[in-house]
Amino acid sequence: MEPLVDSWGRRIESVRVSVTDKCNFRCTYCMPAEGLQWLPRAEVLTFEEIARLVRILAAMGVSETRLTGGEPLIRRDLPELVRQLAVTPGVEDLSLTTNGVLLDRLAGPLVEAGLKRINVSLDSLSHTRFAELARRDALDKVLAGLEEAERYPELRPIKVNCVAIKGFTEPEVPALAELARRKPYVVRFIEFMPLDADEVWRDDQVLTGDEIRALIEDVYGPLVELPAKASSTAKRYGFADGKGEVGFVNPVSEPFCSACDRIRITADGQLRTCLFSTREWDLKTRLRDGSSDEQLAAAIREAVIHKELKHRINERGFVRASRSMSQIGG
Ligand code: SAM
Ligand code: SF4
Repeated sequence: MEPLVDSWGRRIESVRVSVTDKCNFRCTYCMPAEGLQWLPRAEVLTFEEIARLVRILAAMGVSETRLTGGEPLIRRDLPELVRQLAVTPGVEDLSLTTNGVLLDRLAGPLVEAGLKRINVSLDSLSHTRFAELARRDALDKVLAGLEEAERYPELRPIKVNCVAIKGFTEPEVPALAELARRKPYVVRFIEFMPLDADEVWRDDQVLTGDEIRALIEDVYGPLVELPAKASSTAKRYGFADGKGEVGFVNPVSEPFCSACDRIRITADGQLRTCLFSTREWDLKTRLRDGSSDEQLAAAIREAVIHKELKHRINERGFVRASRSMSQIGG
């Protein structure tokens, strides 16, 4: 099949698939403490529907699939979906983003099913501050999950993602940098984006990658920039003595939209061409109304033609997406 290209000439090679909108954490930068309505079960795509979409996308050159949510590990039998996707022709890279709290139980079955890479979210190494942010006291479980993931050399790299929030994250930086040096983890700092359900985000709460890099360099001296793929969202740095790697994902201070190769599918089968899209494209109805693969492919192409040139977080009149991060699939 023809490659999937948007109207700005960007080739789409990566899809993030949300397998559930539910979560067992309530991170302040993502979900409200309570009151978020879950999708009715019948609205959530089945494994067969997800596998069909991924197969059609892979045939159009979308070679990278990442499973996310909500918290993907609470979706029952997730390894079964991984097993189906891992053998899909054209899926060259299959990964998962998780809060890690169920990883001590599931790392083994996921690897066995064919998972190749994992991102674990971790914002603090202090029990009280972790609980303050995730609204769950689960640091030890997440660390146990990471340890378990580490036991499988097939699962590399292990990336640890930290949302960087001004006024919160600064004291966490030395311990997280140390983790990158002590463990085979790539620790990545991701700028806080206006995707929180509580809508408290303000631009002065963004702790930029450059600010964090300076904090790390205060302790370890100059970091050394490492080569990154053109489509990579992260800038990579090594420590001068060669031990460990950190990364910075700077969507607010240094947008990387011009190299964006990504689309998203929500748990209820809506295609989004940008995290900040104000429009969604309904694939679920087509999956369920007898549409052929060709018709689905055409619907995907039509959506991708409308992919936004860039996000407008830094512009006046920026309009927030109607759904928050856990409902979209980060
Ligand atoms: N529950 C899983 C997790 O936390 O890793 C997967 C879904 S979560 C929505 C995916 C990623 O989005 C996580 O790394 C999370 O930290 C990040 N995220 C959530 N809200 C964010 C925000 N407002 N700004 C930046 N990153 C955010
Ligand atoms: Fe859940 Fe992930 Fe959102 Fe935290 S960031 S509330 S773990 S979906």
